[in-house]
Amino acid sequence: MGFLTFRGGVHPSEKKEMSQDQEIKVLKLPDTVYMYTSNHLGAPAKPIVEVGEKVKTGQKIAEASGFISANLHSPLTGEIVSIEKMVNAASGRKDDVIVIKKTSEDDWQLLPHNDDFTKFTSEEIINNIKEAGIVGLGGAMFPSHVKLMIPKGKKAETLIINAAECEPYITIDERMMLEKTDEIIKGIEILLYASGIEKAYIGIEENKSKAIKTMIEKTNGKNIEIKTLKTKYPQGAEKQLINAITSKEVPSGGLPIDIGVIVFNVSTTYAIYDAIINGKPLVERGASLTGEGVKKPGNFLYRIGTKVNELLENVGLIDEENIDRILYGGPMMGIPLPNIELPTFKGNNAITVLTKDILPKREDFPCIRCSSCVSVCPIGLQPYLLKKYSDTRNYDTALENGLMDCIECGSCSFICPSNIELAKSFKTAKKVVRAMKQRRG
Ligand code: SF4
Ligand code: SF4
Repeated sequence: MGFLTFRGGVHPSEKKEMSQDQEIKVLKLPDTVYMYTSNHLGAPAKPIVEVGEKVKTGQKIAEASGFISANLHSPLTGEIVSIEKMVNAASGRKDDVIVIKKTSEDDWQLLPHNDDFTKFTSEEIINNIKEAGIVGLGGAMFPSHVKLMIPKGKKAETLIINAAECEPYITIDERMMLEKTDEIIKGIEILLYASGIEKAYIGIEENKSKAIKTMIEKTNGKNIEIKTLKTKYPQGAEKQLINAITSKEVPSGGLPIDIGVIVFNVSTTYAIYDAIINGKPLVERGASLTGEGVKKPGNFLYRIGTKVNELLENVGLIDEENIDRILYGGPMMGIPLPNIELPTFKGNNAITVLTKDILPKREDFPCIRCSSCVSVCPIGLQPYLLKKYSDTRNYDTALENGLMDCIECGSCSFICPSNIELAKSFKTAKKVVRAMKQRRG
């Protein structure tokens, strides 16, 4: 079997074996959840509840406040105890958080649903996905209904399900494919029906042989094809995945729909199934709790808004002295946490705990112009030059050299023999450029 791939990329240690065979465990309900109103890409949701109000599990608590925004629902049956500011580790800002205290076991408030999804029109399905507050669960948190609202003049022709899961350590999507196979396949059929696309492809990296076998067996006779991908980071990045499967390139500054493609992560597809068939808004998700710093790595289904420290109680941490960092996500693109008393997001597919021996102190050396960073960049950028322009605040030249095309994958930093943290510079430079643009209006 030939494995599809893209140009560039790196091969970090996979470390999947730590949690790969661990079945997903459903965690008991937390006593309190903390829901960021910025729980998605785009404008923060607007709270529609007041302190002291009683809410049911699945009840809408904040409403989407723009085209790119998403509704927020209560993960518990309980009471709103406060709406307060909390640090958002992703943005570094303080965001509004709705705090809900559990008062009983789940009493669900469900959305309209039907075992036979064809009883809905495609518009109703897109609206129900919007109502359910579903966003990209691979980490990007882009509102799912927006992807299905095809702009005038564009046509959706190819549906790709992203099951590459190329970040080291993380195994939740793989477990979902093994344990929720039929539900995911139904979710794909719902997406085909809602988008009017005739055929879907599921892209899976070759290191998930059981998931590949299961998916091939279960999709037999359906208009869904499994595409096996080379195990290479960042194979799961949207543009790289599209390129590997269709050989098409998303234009610089463009979107997949510009070349007729829409992409959904495999866990998002499950959430879409759960909303349309069972009427459940997005209030829980699966994640891997993993890394050398946890005693018993595994995969768990948890309520969104549970604090990280409470989640980690289920796997146990090793001696604190040996822990280097704790991340939302994996080691390549994850966000280091300033403390573990922060809540989880819709996009948290993993909490990874890395130890000091895995990440020995790096000493930085000057750039030796070896061009390794150029050869691994999946976008074809020249990272060593971009770094020079970013650090000297020569943003116009950095932009001319593709700064905004950088997907912050970290492949350049990973390969650099001088240990230069290139991707970190690009992240900061992109933030500055966006802030300058906003200020100029
Ligand atoms: S990999 Fe590092 S040392 Fe080599 S050219 Fe790039 S920045 Fe310079
Ligand atoms: S420049 Fe950006 S896209 Fe290219 S390897 Fe570095 S982080 Fe990835």
